[in-house]
Amino acid sequence: MTSRREQFETLFPGEPAFRWNQIEEGLFSSAKNWSELMTIPAGMRERLSVIPWMSVELVQMQVSGNGDTHKALLRVEGDKQIETVLMKNPRGAWTICVSSQVGCAMRCGFCATGKMGLTRSLTADEIVDQYRFWKHFKIAERISNIVYMGMGEPLANYEAVKESLNTLLARTDLGKTRITVSTVGVLPRLEQILTDRGWPHVRLAVSLHSAIEQTRKLIVPTSYDDFLPKLENWAKRYLAQFGNRRHHLTFEYVMLKCVNDTPAHARALALFVNRIGHVRVNLIPYNLTGVAFERSPDAAIDAFLAELDDRGVVATRRRTMGSDIAAACGQLIVLTPLPQTA
Ligand code: SAH
Repeated sequence: MTSRREQFETLFPGEPAFRWNQIEEGLFSSAKNWSELMTIPAGMRERLSVIPWMSVELVQMQVSGNGDTHKALLRVEGDKQIETVLMKNPRGAWTICVSSQVGCAMRCGFCATGKMGLTRSLTADEIVDQYRFWKHFKIAERISNIVYMGMGEPLANYEAVKESLNTLLARTDLGKTRITVSTVGVLPRLEQILTDRGWPHVRLAVSLHSAIEQTRKLIVPTSYDDFLPKLENWAKRYLAQFGNRRHHLTFEYVMLKCVNDTPAHARALALFVNRIGHVRVNLIPYNLTGVAFERSPDAAIDAFLAELDDRGVVATRRRTMGSDIAAACGQLIVLTPLPQTA
């Protein structure tokens, strides 16, 4: 798939660099199509119209009962579909959750997207256009955070995710602490981040889900025997290089009843985190995706938090949003419609 930039360069070979800069600036402005880009000469504007202004197209919008969560089903090239979510946070600002792939290859047992398998990775244009889509949707309001926690494994689409991050950082008012990339923990790509000068150091969240090897392997099938010691080793080097007062690492932990939510699991997690250092834990109450798992009861989550707190681990509990429209963590799935019968 050819990016907008490549299409521009084919249409206008040899055009000075400032021109693409103006165009990209225009893409992130309040303009709604090429013809509104007044900074561009009229002749060029007209010819630009062969390049899609938006690489995502709304198919269906759903709003949660309390109005604080919107989920959009979007069509992307090849008649594929993805979902993206907009959430109002407690301070009244908006967070968007973007997808990085159509489906996902990681097959985590508790996640609906995993059941789709992977169709393809999204392009950088398709990722940043989810932001542009929501910006136009809520024209008067500010998007204050972006989380790469929609469909897909961002680090399995490393180059496009990196490009999208750099574009968003350059073209929006969002700083690096306002963007979080969540990963199942693709170690070769996490290693790459340590040395890649082009990788912008936004926040990173690793989906740990258990600090006990056998439990993690049970629920995260891409985990392997020495994943935990390797992650620990990586995390120490990551924090030594990039950690500071404002930059920590987050471990996400989905709370599954009787699977990973016992006091013994909390103690294992605390030991693991304390060996690493500047880590925060984010507990995610399991959102229903099928019958295989149950959400930990509130009392178990509270007890788990208390165990962590006793051991000096900074942990928070994620608010569940949009579960009535299947927009909560792990609930994003696009089912292929059954063939129409006459
Ligand atoms: N592939 C990335 C992004 C996944 S979505 C990753 O693995 O991190 C963001 C978070 O939601 C991940 O921590 C993921 O494990 C979690 N999640 C998946 N399914 C869930 C469910 N049913 N309930 C709660 N959290 C879930």
